[in-house]
This record gives sequence, structure tokens and C-alpha cells, in this order.
Amino acid sequence: MSDLIYLDNAATTAVKPEVFEAMKPYMMENYANPSSVYSFAGKAKKAVDDAREQLAEILHAKSSEIYFTGGGSEADNWAIKVTAEAYKNKGKHIITSKIEHHAVLHTCDWLERNGYEVTYLDVDEDGLISLEALENAIRPDTILITIMFANNEIGTIEPVKEIGAIAKKHGVLFHTDAVQAFAHVPIDVEDMNIDMLSASGHKFHGPKGIGFLYMRNGLKLGAFIHGGAQERARRAGTHNVPGIVGMGAAAKLMTENMESFAQKEIEVRDYLISRIEKEIPFVKVNGHREKRLPNNVNVCFRFIEGESLLIMLDQKGICASSGSACTSGSLDPSHVLLAIGLIHEIAHGSLRLTLSEETTKEDADYVVDNLKGIVERLRSMSPLYEDFVKQQA
Ligand SMILES: *Cc1c(COP(=O)(O)O)cnc(C)c1O
Repeated sequence: MSDLIYLDNAATTAVKPEVFEAMKPYMMENYANPSSVYSFAGKAKKAVDDAREQLAEILHAKSSEIYFTGGGSEADNWAIKVTAEAYKNKGKHIITSKIEHHAVLHTCDWLERNGYEVTYLDVDEDGLISLEALENAIRPDTILITIMFANNEIGTIEPVKEIGAIAKKHGVLFHTDAVQAFAHVPIDVEDMNIDMLSASGHKFHGPKGIGFLYMRNGLKLGAFIHGGAQERARRAGTHNVPGIVGMGAAAKLMTENMESFAQKEIEVRDYLISRIEKEIPFVKVNGHREKRLPNNVNVCFRFIEGESLLIMLDQKGICASSGSACTSGSLDPSHVLLAIGLIHEIAHGSLRLTLSEETTKEDADYVVDNLKGIVERLRSMSPLYEDFVKQQA
């Protein structure tokens, strides 16, 4: 590990040793199907119940409001598609934002092709939606507001409590994709009037392929996966017991240490940002300066291609990203960076560094020291930079 600096914790995180230890007995010893009646299944059943309880407690929800899924994308699909189906007689209008994860955007796109109307709210230069624009977008046929808790690329935290209040005032359901926020920042579904919330285990040091949807009791929403009666007959399929146990253990561990982990991350985050801003010219920091995830750094370097930057950082043992893992490989600039008003040329030179609580100041120094040289080298090869320098002269 020591020769690798992993700064892509928004893409996925390492499973914590304690989490792995908690999962292990549910693979080879207590492997029973928790839905079985014999007493051998009792331990698996209790483990699933305990995890559900743990997750509910963190959100100030009831355990009957937690539904296990195969991850964040599934939870987003469930919340949006099933709300659309259940409320189609009231209306077919949905409100979201332009900076959502593709699990939300592409689901909305699919609904548009199936007779629904979607309003995509703009964001300001920091990535915040306008509450006034949100309220103005609500119509009699609006059935759902789905706006993310925190953005996965630029780290901006949306005014979720205020959004919840507006949704409640107008009798519209509110879903939030909290995949980047859950177990990282405090969330209270009661106080924030959240009706549905998506989270994913592998974004907070739990295993991959497990997540959950919080769904407020009393919502008349149907099943997403048809089959057996698991998850109150709404999400069929044998429980992923080790995954559920791991996600519960990770959530507990992260929540118990939330403040100290966040403090550590904020310190290194702000140190990274200030060194980059001071020591590298023509840099823009993206995302809100204060309303920001503790672990997110996102910057654009003018006259540079993000992809080349990533390859050269990789040669130095640094794992970073230019945006989200889901869009890398495509040459289109990030929809989030375009939505905050960056022109293509600048959006192309983006770099996202997402820390964990284990990231140190020494790691940050190593990254910035290398980054300076790499940026200089790439600029020296850039015709755009050459033109720019000539113009300045
Ligand atoms: C990672 C992520 C998802 C998708 O979660 P998976 O568990 O990988 O399906 C959804 N939304 C956001 C904001 C994410 O960061």
C-alpha cells in the first residue's frame, strides 16, 4: 500500500479490516438463507436485522424503512421508476438537477422516452441549485423531486433540508442520492424531510454490490424486483448476508468516527487546495469552498488534457480521476463541470482527488510536488499554451 497513493475514494473505497472480519463468518459458517425457518438460519437472520437497525439509526429512520439493494444505482433506479409508476395518475412531471449521477440522469432520460416530463435545474458556479428555481418548477402534476445530497465530482453539498421543506410544503415526494454523503456527513431524514434516500456500501469502506434505499413508511410504492417476499415483497432475491453485514459494520464504524475523520480529511483537503493554488498557475478550484464534502478536491488546469495528467500521475503511483469513474473513457467533458459554467477547453483539464481519513499531509506533498512538474511538462507540449504565452508577450 505504501507505494500507492489512492486518491479516488469517490469511485470506491477499501474495505476496512474490521468490516471484513465482521463479514467472514457469514460466508462459510453462517451461510444459511436468512429466510429459512430452521434455527441454523437464525444467526444470518439476526445479522441482517441488526444491520438494518444500525443503518436506520444513523438516518433517524425506522428499520422497517430500510430496503437492501445491489448498490447505489439500483436504489436510484428503484426510487425514481417506482415513484413514476405509482403516481402516474397524479402526474408525470419530475424535477432533478443537471449535475446528478448518471444513475439518476439516465433513469430520468428513460422516463422521458416513456411519456414523462423532466425539469433539469441549473446550478450556479459552485454547483448549488437555486431554491427559488426549484419552487418555481413545481407544477400540479409534479410527482417527484430528486436532487443529490452531495456531488460526486465537485463535492458540493446541496441545501437538502431546504429542498425537503419545499417538497413537503407542495406535497411532492423528495428523493436524494446520498451515495457520497451517507456515513460521511450527518443526515437526519426526519429533520430534512427526506422521503427516499439512496446509499451504497462501497463508498464508505463497505463491500461492493450492496446498498440500500430508505423509503419512508406509508409511501404507496410498489416492488422493484419481482419474485420472493424479501424486503417486504418489494425487492426479491436472497439476501446478500455478508454484504449487508459488511455495510452495517462500515456504517457504524464511519459514523462513530465521523467528526474526527472529517476533521482529518478537511485539514489535508485544504492543504492540498492551498498548495495547488499557490504553486501552480492557471488553476481553478471547482465546487463550493465551504459547502463541500470533507474529502473532495476538484481543480481544472488550463491548457491541459485531464487524461494525460492521469496517466502521468499513475506513473508516479498516484490514483486519481478526471471526474467520475463512469464517464472516464469518453472524450466528452464532464456534464457537472459544464453545468457550473466551464467552457469545454477548461473542463477537459480537470482533476479530482478524493481522500480518505488515512490520507496524510506527506501524501499531499508527494502529489503536489509531482503535479507541478507534470503540469509544466504537459503545458510545454501544448500548442494552446504556446499561443497563450505569445499573446501575453
Ligand atoms: C457511486 C455513485 C452511485 C452508484 O453507486 P453504485 O453502488 O456504484 O451503483 C450513485 N450516485 C452517486 C452520487 C455515486 O457517487
